[in-house]
Amino acid sequence: MGLRFQAVQTAASRPSVDVVIEGNVTDYFGENVFDLKKMQKYLEPDAFSAVLSVRENGGRIDKEVAEKIAQGMKVWAMEKGVTHYAHWFQPLTGTTAEKHDSFLDFNYATGTPIEKFAGSLLVQQEPDASSFPSGGIRSTFEARGYTAWDPESPAFIVDTTLCIPSVFISYTGESLDYKTPLLKTNAVLDKAATGVAKYFDKKINKVTPTLGWEQEFFLVDAALYEARPDLILTGRTILGHSASKDQQLEDHYFGSIPERAAQYIKEVEVECHKLGIPAKTRHNEVAPNQFEIAPIFEHVDIAVDHNILLMDVMRRVAKRHNLVALLHEKPFAGINGSGKHNNWSMSTNTGVNLLNPGKDKDSNLMFLTFMANVVKAVHTNSDLLLASIATAGNEHRLGGNEAPPAIFSVFLGSALTKTFNDIESATADAMASQAKSFLTIDIEHIPELTLDNTDRNRTSPFAFTGNKFEFRAVGSSANCAGSMTALSAAVAQQLTAFKLEVDALIAKGAKKEEALLTVIRKIIIESKSIRFDGNNYSDEWKAEAAKRGLKNITSAPESWTALTTDKAHALYIDQNIFTARELEARYEISLETYVKKMKIEIELMDELISNVVTPAALKYQSTLVGNVTGLYAISLKSAADPSIAIISKISEHLSAIGTAKTELKSTIHSAESLTSLPDEAAVFAGKVRTLLSAIRTEADELELIVDNELWPLPKYRELLFTK
Ligand code: ADP
Ligand code: MG
Repeated sequence: MGLRFQAVQTAASRPSVDVVIEGNVTDYFGENVFDLKKMQKYLEPDAFSAVLSVRENGGRIDKEVAEKIAQGMKVWAMEKGVTHYAHWFQPLTGTTAEKHDSFLDFNYATGTPIEKFAGSLLVQQEPDASSFPSGGIRSTFEARGYTAWDPESPAFIVDTTLCIPSVFISYTGESLDYKTPLLKTNAVLDKAATGVAKYFDKKINKVTPTLGWEQEFFLVDAALYEARPDLILTGRTILGHSASKDQQLEDHYFGSIPERAAQYIKEVEVECHKLGIPAKTRHNEVAPNQFEIAPIFEHVDIAVDHNILLMDVMRRVAKRHNLVALLHEKPFAGINGSGKHNNWSMSTNTGVNLLNPGKDKDSNLMFLTFMANVVKAVHTNSDLLLASIATAGNEHRLGGNEAPPAIFSVFLGSALTKTFNDIESATADAMASQAKSFLTIDIEHIPELTLDNTDRNRTSPFAFTGNKFEFRAVGSSANCAGSMTALSAAVAQQLTAFKLEVDALIAKGAKKEEALLTVIRKIIIESKSIRFDGNNYSDEWKAEAAKRGLKNITSAPESWTALTTDKAHALYIDQNIFTARELEARYEISLETYVKKMKIEIELMDELISNVVTPAALKYQSTLVGNVTGLYAISLKSAADPSIAIISKISEHLSAIGTAKTELKSTIHSAESLTSLPDEAAVFAGKVRTLLSAIRTEADELELIVDNELWPLPKYRELLFTK
């Protein structure tokens, strides 16, 4: 029996792995995290207050304190059976990195083995940076990079390793990871947003961005996965005809979770809770075998770590359930892709969510101020937001089935849209003279209306959902830090500009409310074209967006050209989030990664066509030829017609594949001879992708024709309906 049928049989008879939860979630929540409670227990009081102070006010931890923290951490970790420690960081590969070192050391005076974890090793390490993407920042003779502990993010235990969340920078100080720019952006946003929030409440002295991600993913049985080289090597099926039934009956979303998946998700949740990840919601998604896990929102830097950790937990736990979690944005052509909706807002030290409509006039004006500025920020930087979520994987998803298009727009809902329109149509004079009454008349109704949950739009790439924005265009495998850095940076930049304008009006004698409303009205008008409440999936929107001058960039490499513009300079370099060299490096890394991923898919396609598709097609064709010869031998020539028709169909498809493959080879050859990386990537995003999908179409037609018994790869219908 071939691998496919073995796998189908194994998968079909696989029992669910029952998960028994011991105790209540409050008993084990955070048990594998060196959180404040444990710090208090294991650290000396001065070390404990040093950590608290760094968390609240920033700054560095000095050597002696680091030594004490390391000792406390070690004692706690060893009590939990930990043998190794690792700096855990988020390089630009998109995954995480960790190098494990044992606690084992020697007391060289006595020659006896000891367990040791020095403070210097807690604070800083020097992994060899030469194997991580750096966009040319690190030349090989300067291969060193530093990882440095980020004391805002607590250490945690995975298996028997103590993981220390860290940032990763080059020997020359440039960031080589996702975390460093995010932390810088948080500080920039804090400053800008606090400045504006003080117009309304002098007690506000800190603003923190918050993030609640929603992680979508697919599950497939491990045996079926093993029989699909494309899933193994690229995370998606590069071949495969759609099943006759997939999601058209709309019977999966919010349905009861199939047993194997339910047990799996249950265990993922327990592991998450032990790691302090506040997983809260789980449900089926739209496509068969597609699910979602979402947490309670947290400060953005912690939420980013937790999402990366979740993806790791998902992969590990899946093994115990004989499942594989697919995090790719588009594992299956023709059905829904997976996103990672990033719910984002800003909260103050006084406990106020700045995007929560207030109950009275003053808090409403504060809400309106932040709303209008976010919309304006997205309007100004929509191309950079798109660049922040573009990847080779997400390129397959955006604009595909039920995924936001690559056109950026903002959904506000009917109540807020009306308020924005009212403000727009009020004349500047009327606004100035009636600032107060205008507010009480027109803005009072916001709370009631925007909290209406039916006022939702699931097609928008960036939707206001009552008290937060949902950045829906983010891809399922992404590190949230990329999109969160872009968004918070854009909002920070806009809030800074806003405050300058308001202050200038006040300096000229305007009253505060009048000045605020005047600038709010101005930015509402300026950013009008980005607002769209209709169906983003429709063709009408594409036409309308083009009329409004909104771009529809479906190619990832093309979207990254935004990183080379003056706008990117203003957003990232002027705000000290990236240096010019870092920004350039990120552009390069994005392009390099894109081309590399495409090349892997091309080579694999070549191999699958030669070793799998063509032999299966020829084998079936030979059988048919035998059938025809037989029928001719018994003089039943006309009875051979159906077989002859299929024989020629097979030949047609094979020859179409051959033609496309030849063209693909020469296209790649000429792309590789281009000296500019952007030009090369553009060929891959354009002609190469078109040719690959042409080959796929032919191969998928062959899958439909060839005898089912002879087809070696598990089919969509077999991959997608795990019980
Ligand atoms: P939905 O209808 O989109 O599923 P939910 O209320 O379930 O809305 O929230 C989805 C996500 O939004 C959750 O992860 C939740 O924690 C997060 N969220 C809620 N409020 C905020 C906020 N103020 N900031 C960031 N994320 C938030
Ligand atoms: Mg949601």
